[in-house]
Amino acid sequence: ERRFVADASHELRTPLTNIEGYAEMLEEWAIKDPETARESVEAIREESRRMRHLAEELLALARGDEGAPLELKSQDLGAVAQEATRIARNAAGGKVTVEYALPEHKIIAVFDRSRVRQALSILLDNAVKYTPEGGEVRVWAHESDGQVGVTVRDTGVGIPEEELPRIFERFYRTDEARTRGGAGLGLAIARQIAESHGGTMEVRSTLGEVRSTQGKGSTFILQIPQNGPDH
Ligand code: ADP
Repeated sequence: ERRFVADASHELRTPLTNIEGYAEMLEEWAIKDPETARESVEAIREESRRMRHLAEELLALARGDEGAPLELKSQDLGAVAQEATRIARNAAGGKVTVEYALPEHKIIAVFDRSRVRQALSILLDNAVKYTPEGGEVRVWAHESDGQVGVTVRDTGVGIPEEELPRIFERFYRTDEARTRGGAGLGLAIARQIAESHGGTMEVRSTLGEVRSTQGKGSTFILQIPQNGPDH
């Protein structure tokens, strides 16, 4: 807990320091140099956006830790996955292909739509973020033995075997990711959502599979009991 608060404070301090710096620059250069002023405003906006994102992630984790109740309803998991995929495809803007494979029939299960949606968005954002231009992200929903799930597979940079057990930890990022922005909370939230439904979140390294030019990629599988958390 103390570690979590320390890490969170550290993560919040960085964008704040940057905002302060840019505000000072703005004060000093606004009149003399409109271009520098414009850049400062842009940077302040970007840092603010990061801070808001981080605050929202921290809030989601705190709510999960408190055991906030789920809004459970029987509904089509495939439809939720398809919708999340559509939004990720638009956000990817053609950088990578993002495709949803329709299952043969509806996959009806009991779950909290907005939370599962959030978990899938996290997986999809990561898949797009860690897949170089021209790569592929595939999503499909599945059902077997009282369990339902969604798999998100990408042909991206992959995750080294030794890092796999750690990537769901709060604030954990691989070296590869340190330069790309996130605070390392996304997967912790996604796993928490899976577990609050009585389910699991798994990752597989697809190293060695010849699915991309790099022969690399990651596969994340969200799985929950079909009849809800208590089944
Ligand atoms: P972040 O905000 O850094 O993306 P996450 O908790 O979502 O944090 O992910 C933790 C780390 O797991 C990332 O920093 C990255 O190193 C790794 N990771 C997650 N998803 C993928 C993926 N699809 N491909 C490669 N690495 C990934």
